[in-house]
Amino acid sequence: MPRDTHAFDGRERLEMLAEISQFIVENDLPVTPFTLEAAHDIITGANPALAEFTATRLAEGDPITVAWLENVRCSGVQDSATARLHSLIARLEATIDAFAITACAAKTATSDYNTALEAHVDDLAAIDGSDDVVAQITTLARDMLDRTREVARELSRSERETHALQRQLADARAEAEVDHLTGLPNRRAFEARYDLEYTATREAGESLCVAFCDIDEFKRINDKHGHEAGDRVLRTVAQSLATISDDTCHVARHGGEEFVVLLRNKLLAEACAVIDEAREAIASRRLVNRTTDVPFGQITLSAGVADVHAYDDARAALRAADGALLRAKEAGRNVVLKAEPSD
Ligand code: GH3
Ligand code: MG
Ligand code: MG
Repeated sequence: MPRDTHAFDGRERLEMLAEISQFIVENDLPVTPFTLEAAHDIITGANPALAEFTATRLAEGDPITVAWLENVRCSGVQDSATARLHSLIARLEATIDAFAITACAAKTATSDYNTALEAHVDDLAAIDGSDDVVAQITTLARDMLDRTREVARELSRSERETHALQRQLADARAEAEVDHLTGLPNRRAFEARYDLEYTATREAGESLCVAFCDIDEFKRINDKHGHEAGDRVLRTVAQSLATISDDTCHVARHGGEEFVVLLRNKLLAEACAVIDEAREAIASRRLVNRTTDVPFGQITLSAGVADVHAYDDARAALRAADGALLRAKEAGRNVVLKAEPSD
């Protein structure tokens, strides 16, 4: 009946609200439209990947923070699977590292024990006479020595296997941080690098800038030349941008036709100049579709650059760079704009 249904819906809604509130409070999150929406999506399962990912994180005892929610929400389902893979790799690495330490300690202890036992066996063998008890003890001690030598061999084998596993895991981690289309570090690698550089530059009082670069009207390239040709253009732009990479400048593919650059030890104006040079280099090229010989026309990109430490936190700086990129698009594209903290 309509009345009952209404009452039931009302109760259900109240329960849902209570669960959302409980999620916010239990995870010590601020009450903002963003956290309320995220909590809603997690509690109702409206975003199954986010819900599942949150459950895994809570089960692992890690905190749910605004930065973490932002990360997961921006990266989508595929990234959440990648993130779980990374979390698995990290846990495996930790377990194997712990095992390696234990195995190494056990090897040392076994070796010490062996040395002591060998000395005792020699002492026993030196005792003169036909004493049965001494003979029995000597046999037992020799037996023990054989067994501990076997344990030592097993431990050495485990140690070699552990080192091989550690190398394989390091390779898997490196592989998972590369964007396979362009060969550049991917968004996950960028996030990790960004966190590192943020902390390091803040502690050292050095400057750090971040730039978002987005190819202009890239959809048109795909529409006119096809997706495969679009992929080749993406690779070419990526290679061109990668030429500015060095120890203090990191270029990554953030996703789609968007790249992100981290510039350490550069003031905002200097960072803008570096990005503008890269923009100019790309704009001056005249690429041709090699399968049809049809020119791609001028390929340009727009960028927004922010001075990271001018903002409250690392995420706010990213939002500022993204805002400046939006303004660059609105200003007509093929331009690099600074983010002003007062924007
Ligand atoms: P704007 O100047 O505003 O950035 O316009 P745009 O067309 O570049 O932007 P929009 O976001 O409308 O379209 C981006 C396009 O990039 C759509 C998508 O198909 C294409 N794209 C994203 N990733 C890839 C990729 O890996 N390969 C190819 N070929 N295209 C991609
Ligand atoms: Mg674009
Ligand atoms: Mg884009």
